[in-house]
Amino acid sequence: MLVFSAIVPHPPLLIPSIGKDKIDKLQKTIKAFDILEEDLNKADPDTIIIISPHGEMNFDAFTINTNETYKANFNEFGEFSTKLEFKSDLNFIMQLKRKYESSMPIQLISEDNLDHGASVPLYYLTRQNKDRRIVPINYSFLSFEKHIEFGKLIKDAIFSLDKKYAIIASGDLSHKLTKNAPAGFSPRAKEFDKKLIQLLKKRNIENVLNIDPKLIEDSAECGLRSILILLGAMSNMDYDFEVLNYESPFGVGYLVGEMNLD
Ligand SMILES: [Zn+2]
Repeated sequence: MLVFSAIVPHPPLLIPSIGKDKIDKLQKTIKAFDILEEDLNKADPDTIIIISPHGEMNFDAFTINTNETYKANFNEFGEFSTKLEFKSDLNFIMQLKRKYESSMPIQLISEDNLDHGASVPLYYLTRQNKDRRIVPINYSFLSFEKHIEFGKLIKDAIFSLDKKYAIIASGDLSHKLTKNAPAGFSPRAKEFDKKLIQLLKKRNIENVLNIDPKLIEDSAECGLRSILILLGAMSNMDYDFEVLNYESPFGVGYLVGEMNLD
């Protein structure tokens, strides 16, 4: 069954030795991660399915990493002391692939290392317990509707197995919120973040699918497709979307939100 779902950001600056003094500006996000981790441990899933925008991506297929173990490190950000390791949930991955490969393009890959879209949130969410199994998924550039549909299949697979699962949609919102933002400034960037958060609170998938494509492009987000897969998995479930924090100290929208299941 599905016992926990959340939306998280993934700035490498959240890792203390990378963020250094900049981490002071992320204290609210870190507090939100503290709450999320506590709730995750209460829900006690066997497996965490984490959807990232930054792993090996296929244009026209969803990608799942089937390595037996995954390493998380931050070497590419010049941080060599943090090394985490997680076990895979191959049983879940094979179930998903076997049951749905005829209706959904699913590409299996084998990669030792997790990308930072998965590593940064897992660093915070597994501080107390590193034994949960991990399923790392990367979204595709198939249509938004296909992402919802893929999420529904993940949900089906979850409920066909006798284990407890969490789904984490990793993604930052707009990268253009301020003049010194990494992707430059767009006056409409704030509008995108505000609108998406509003629609998440209303659980209005239809209107998320109908957000003006130009507005999405202007925002330079990386999280929308991760969120769409999560929304697909949450369809027909009773939940409240709780914003634990939203902030943008460096011009990128960092949303931490939990879908509180009844
Ligand atoms: Zn990103």
